Amino acid sequence: MTKVKKTEFKTNLPQEGGACYVPASAPATEVQPDNRKPILLPAPPDELPGQGYRKRQLADWLYKQGAREFGEMTNLPRSWRESLAAEWRVSEFAQVQAFPSVDGSVKYLFTLHDGSRTEAVYLPYADRKTVCISSQVGCPAGCVFCATGRMGFGRNLTGPEIIDQILAVARHQNLGPREIRNVVLMGMGEPLLNYENVAWAVRRMLDENALAMSPRRVTLSTVGIPRGIRRMAADDLGVKLALSLHAPDDATRRRIIPTAHSYSVAEILEAVRAYFGRTKRRVTIEYTMLRGINDSEEQAGELARILKGLVAHVNLIPFNPWEGAPVEGSGRKKIQRFAETLEKAGLPVTVRWSRGVDVGAACGQLALKEG
Ligand code: SAH
Ligand code: SF4
Repeated sequence: MTKVKKTEFKTNLPQEGGACYVPASAPATEVQPDNRKPILLPAPPDELPGQGYRKRQLADWLYKQGAREFGEMTNLPRSWRESLAAEWRVSEFAQVQAFPSVDGSVKYLFTLHDGSRTEAVYLPYADRKTVCISSQVGCPAGCVFCATGRMGFGRNLTGPEIIDQILAVARHQNLGPREIRNVVLMGMGEPLLNYENVAWAVRRMLDENALAMSPRRVTLSTVGIPRGIRRMAADDLGVKLALSLHAPDDATRRRIIPTAHSYSVAEILEAVRAYFGRTKRRVTIEYTMLRGINDSEEQAGELARILKGLVAHVNLIPFNPWEGAPVEGSGRKKIQRFAETLEKAGLPVTVRWSRGVDVGAACGQLALKEG
């Protein structure tokens, strides 16, 4: 049996992709709505209030120092701070709860001003600090293996609610916002079904006057919405694309992913090729291994065939079980064999073996308890 070298990793942390997937959170709690004031924080820096260098000072407090209250902005005149505080708010969240796990990652549960809840995960790798963020409360796509899909759809997150997850996590970790160098949109929700707000937030991440991130370090994971992928290309967002394919053929895909009834694998891959044509960035193919559904060697061969010619990397994700899930994960050997078949066909593969998958589940349970 050939050895699959690329399947090993040396960290206890959950890997990006699948493991930073966050299960359904608690039902919404009553929180005082705070719609009186507009959010200031993630406004484009040149639209911030103030004149000349004051505007720049304010931008520095928000994007470089990560201030969460006007009171912290000590080099601004007290009277200006007070008038700013009367007109604007800085944070999107009524409550931020952190749940550290034994493997070093920290799950965050955010309560929004309308009482809805969403989640993010902080993943402090030795060489990079990553935050996995959500784009929606729940998800309308309803994939059968996904706890968020089971939860149903709450609402779209606004642009500020998306980006403020990064700022809130940085603050809680005692980091400046710009010390978070990697973001993955792999939390709750389907980012391309909330395109406008996600694109707005991504632009703030990349803006050199805001979070100044490299587009190579921002990954958007999608279930495969061709028009959204094409729009990303047309808008030159330039971020990395991860496609949650999970099956090489339409019939299998439709068993587990309802949106596969609307978009064929061929259509999705065509959009992905167009995206690659524009960005020249290697695409990640995510593939959650489900027992007896998508894990045969024939399916591995078929996957290799349909991905031929695409500059892609396959992430095989062991299923992260959750209570009431109608599917089961494939066994370790089966996953290993699937990986070997892909490797033999010349496809780069990583198996996301991770203790983090258990922790991901624990996070949802904690969130439920807190509710
Ligand atoms: N909606 C987007 C992004 C969020 S899901 C998408 O589907 O791509 C992030 C990744 O976690 C996706 O690849 C998704 O298929 C995977 N995932 C969801 N539930 C999972 C589970 N229970 N076990 C393993 N991976 C899961
Ligand atoms: Fe879950 Fe992503 Fe499917 Fe939504 S699109 S249900 S978040 S796997």
